[in-house]
Amino acid sequence: GFNCGIVGLPNVGKSTLFNALTKAGIGAENFPFCTIEPNAGVVGMPDPRLNKLAEIVKPQKVIPTTMEFVDIAGLVAGASKGEGLGNQFLANIRQTDAIAQVVRCFEDDNVIHVANKVDPASDIEVINTELALADLDTVEKGIKRVERVAKSGDKTAKAQLEVFQTLLPVLNEGKPVRSMDLDAEKMALIRELCLLTVKPTMYIANVNEDGFENNPHLDKVREIAAQENAVVVPICNKLEAEIAELEDDEKSIFLEEMGMEEPGLDRVIRAGYKLLGLQTYFTAGVKEVRAWTVRIGATAPQAAGVIHTDFEKGFIRAEVVSYDDFVAHNGEQGAKDAGRWRLEGKDYIVQDGDVIHFRFNV
Ligand code: GDP
Repeated sequence: GFNCGIVGLPNVGKSTLFNALTKAGIGAENFPFCTIEPNAGVVGMPDPRLNKLAEIVKPQKVIPTTMEFVDIAGLVAGASKGEGLGNQFLANIRQTDAIAQVVRCFEDDNVIHVANKVDPASDIEVINTELALADLDTVEKGIKRVERVAKSGDKTAKAQLEVFQTLLPVLNEGKPVRSMDLDAEKMALIRELCLLTVKPTMYIANVNEDGFENNPHLDKVREIAAQENAVVVPICNKLEAEIAELEDDEKSIFLEEMGMEEPGLDRVIRAGYKLLGLQTYFTAGVKEVRAWTVRIGATAPQAAGVIHTDFEKGFIRAEVVSYDDFVAHNGEQGAKDAGRWRLEGKDYIVQDGDVIHFRFNV
């Protein structure tokens, strides 16, 4: 599965968000085969298509696809120099697929700010500087390594050395490598460095209930994000924590009263999904209708591999009906009768919403 690490300065609302996510999330009892760390929460992807498919197929079980959020506490200025829990913190971020940085955009005299005033630009800078310094260290070590290899005439090492050197001034300024817009070839050359500042990033702007509009703090976050290819999700974490406590029927009444179409958490989950270039395909049997996550561009065997590695190894073909056809023709048989059922081979690129039945050898 894919995961997203939640970072941010102390007292910006990380725990509030994380608790809301885990309350709204899927309990550990649903994942008997994997251990979920105490600082991780697994949340279901909100997807109305799944319910529509279930209405048609009437399965025994309906299972959404998931995304994991990891609470990575402990970032303080100086983390890259090992201050506080710095090293552990950086090691934890390295293991995530994407980063969600919570930024305080709410005024509240009762909540102490570590720097004594609400200042998103400065908060973001503190965090991004630590991440950039950590990357700087990694790049400098990388340069020493490839320099030696490049001397022996190795072409890849020479190309790497050239790209690595272009990263130095950017990181020295405390800017993320993400902001450089490197092409695919250069990205491939720096992949082995596992840099923190290339990870897809979203800023979660934590606002008060009335802070979604005319909020200069939020505007500032948007401005910064635009400069460095990051996404902004404005949300009121305090309100989300309250929503997450409610029973389902109370929830819809509450949302309606607040004039909200869905919990803000759903936007966070979707943003994480989009950030990672992910898409959903479905399997729809009478036992279980289920959503699965694959990268955009994945082939049919790769998609099969998400269910089980044996499915990928023994892949024969995929029987595919698009979501729209499945619904329009009231299920697989209807789609077949209408000529909308396809047999696809190993080169097929899976499309978002495909309803797939895999054939494989074991
Ligand atoms: P963390 O240190 O980043 O994990 O921050 P917490 O989630 O513990 O939040 C710090 C304090 O800010 C708590 O007292 C929260 O109740 C409060 N808080 C969190 N989000 C909001 C918000 O959107 N508005 C207001 N007014 N307070 C909030």
